[in-house]
Amino acid sequence: MASLQLTVLGSGTSMGVPTLACHCAVCESTDPHDQRTRPSVLLSYCGRNVVIDTTPDFRSQALRARIDRLDAVIFTHGHADHVMGLDDVRPYNLKQKSVVPVYAASETLAILRRRFAYIFENTQPGSTPPLIEPRTIDGPFDLFSTRIVPVPAMHGPQPVLGFRFGNCAYLTDFSSVPETSRALLRGLDDFILDALRYVPHPMHSTVAQSLALVDELRPKRAWFTHICHDLGHKQTNAKLPQNVRLAYDGLQFEVAI
Ligand SMILES: [Zn+2]
Ligand SMILES: [Zn+2]
Ligand SMILES: [Zn+2]
Repeated sequence: MASLQLTVLGSGTSMGVPTLACHCAVCESTDPHDQRTRPSVLLSYCGRNVVIDTTPDFRSQALRARIDRLDAVIFTHGHADHVMGLDDVRPYNLKQKSVVPVYAASETLAILRRRFAYIFENTQPGSTPPLIEPRTIDGPFDLFSTRIVPVPAMHGPQPVLGFRFGNCAYLTDFSSVPETSRALLRGLDDFILDALRYVPHPMHSTVAQSLALVDELRPKRAWFTHICHDLGHKQTNAKLPQNVRLAYDGLQFEVAI
């Protein structure tokens, strides 16, 4: 059976962990699992590399994961912690002598056009802007012979996309998941989902809310991501059910596709 290798490039919330200027126990922890860069995953299959989101840490994540080629970027939404590393696709343009296709919902592409006007308008002649080709996500699509199914959710008042590929789904930055999307999240082997902290947040799922969703959808394994400094890796895992773990930077597993 075909498979894909998934790597968690970043498992932290928008500010990362350690958080600048914070000296709490988790930010000061010496456990490498408590060092979380901004949220992203890498999908490697058929000799291709696809990243979901390009975070402000994309460059260091790509160095750490030794990403030697980049074939596509898929965006969940337009928030800064998910897009600000887009400029760092440039070395791949140069090495591969090709544009990098960028898949996103139309509202996310509109945000990218505003945030990265210099990419779209070529306002700096003589410089080396990223070469990207925007592609609008308006339903399931095939990417290098693998089906990618968008899973719409709400992130506070704004829409966000999760993605299912084979028996795995990645759903970051959500506060609620509509019934139609829950139907797309059944029968999973691995489910990577937002669980910011214990304390309620208007735009993110909490540990309790994500545990309830896992209980309903019954994936074989669930991995929490977009984690803030309230959750120590070891202490939190000790309280979670056996099939639910905190994700961490560098976590890797195979996904049947
Ligand atoms: Zn985020
Ligand atoms: Zn802290
Ligand atoms: Zn967000």
